[in-house]
Amino acid sequence: MCIFCKIVKGEIPSKIVLEDENFLAFNDINPTRKVHVLVIPKEHYDSFDVVPPKIMSGMTEFIHKVTSKLELREKGYRLITNIGEHGGQEVPHLHFHIIGGEPVGRLVRDKQEN
Ligand code: AMP
Repeated sequence: MCIFCKIVKGEIPSKIVLEDENFLAFNDINPTRKVHVLVIPKEHYDSFDVVPPKIMSGMTEFIHKVTSKLELREKGYRLITNIGEHGGQEVPHLHFHIIGGEPVGRLVRDKQEN
C-alpha cells in the first residue's frame, strides 16, 4: 500500500486541513512555503495521467473549498501536480500541492540551476 493510502486509512499520522467522503487535504511534511498542503483523492490513482476526468471534477470543487478555508483565493497560490519520473513525482498517488501564504517565486528554475 502506498504512503498516501496509509494516510487515508489513518495508519500514518497527518495534519488534516479538510476531508470529505472522497478527498483529503493535509499539510506537507516538508513545507516549501508558509502554506503547503497536499490534496489527494482517497481512491488510489498513480498520477494525474491516469485519473478519470470525473474524479477531477470533484477534486476541483474540493480544492476550491481548501483554498477558501485557508484564505488563499484573494492573493493567489500555486497549484502543482508532478507526474512520473521526469515530472519529479516522488509519491505515486495523485496529489496536488497547494503552495502559498506568501509569494512563491518563479515556477521552474533554469536547467543549469537545478
Ligand atoms: P511529489 O514530489 O510531487 O511526489 O511530492 C511528494 C510530497 O509528499 C513531498 O512534498 C513530501 O514532502 C510529501 N510527503 C511525503 N511523505 C509525507 C507524509 N507522510 N506526510 C505529508 N507529506 C508527505
